[in-house]
Amino acid sequence: MSYEPSTGWTRLTGRQVERYARRVDGLSDDLDERLDVSGLAHYWDTHGNLHARCMPGELWVLLNGEQSRFDDPDPTEPVDQQWISVTDLGAVFDPAAPPSTVLKMLREEGLLERFAGKDRPTPQADGLYMERPASPVAGRDLKPGAVQRLWSYDVLVKLRARRVATADNDPHKSPPALRALVVKFPAACDRCRLEIVAGSEAYWDSAVKAIRCTQCATAAAAGTGQR
Ligand SMILES: [Zn+2]
Repeated sequence: MSYEPSTGWTRLTGRQVERYARRVDGLSDDLDERLDVSGLAHYWDTHGNLHARCMPGELWVLLNGEQSRFDDPDPTEPVDQQWISVTDLGAVFDPAAPPSTVLKMLREEGLLERFAGKDRPTPQADGLYMERPASPVAGRDLKPGAVQRLWSYDVLVKLRARRVATADNDPHKSPPALRALVVKFPAACDRCRLEIVAGSEAYWDSAVKAIRCTQCATAAAAGTGQR
């Protein structure tokens, strides 16, 4: 596990996740469900690494259920955000959306606009992105002054909401696989962002791996003529 004090995020490789995850009484066996219900900000990148906004010990307890064997550093106030590449934003989707599709979605979200044949951030994107000098990709020459633009977790959440909306509108998709559950930690509906307080009922949509409030779950079921 690697913890970045400047952002307050921990990164775990897919191999570590496999090694540490255990069945935990009272928590789902579906790791995505467990993470979503925990209310922790998190995502998987294209390499299968898990990133979560917490300290290693917290993540360990969530995965393993046992007392942490990590010495968490003293909490400090994060000074930076977790910045996410366009490639990793695409991993929100299954299969992963290519960067060109992600950029199109960012334009549709009003965060990018075309200007002189290039994408540029709109005023709406203020605070949601950062730019740094691009690092060379093997076999490709870098244009002078090339920058890599990275996006905040809030942007990833917007794309995740799209994944859910797209699944709702897909006429070919199988009936929603909704499972009622009682949330153990405060969470938020993946669709309408309604807060779901600990102890209240919600639904887990296994088709899109998302937690939903009872209202959105009912609407989704009615929309497809099921249930
Ligand atoms: Zn909802």
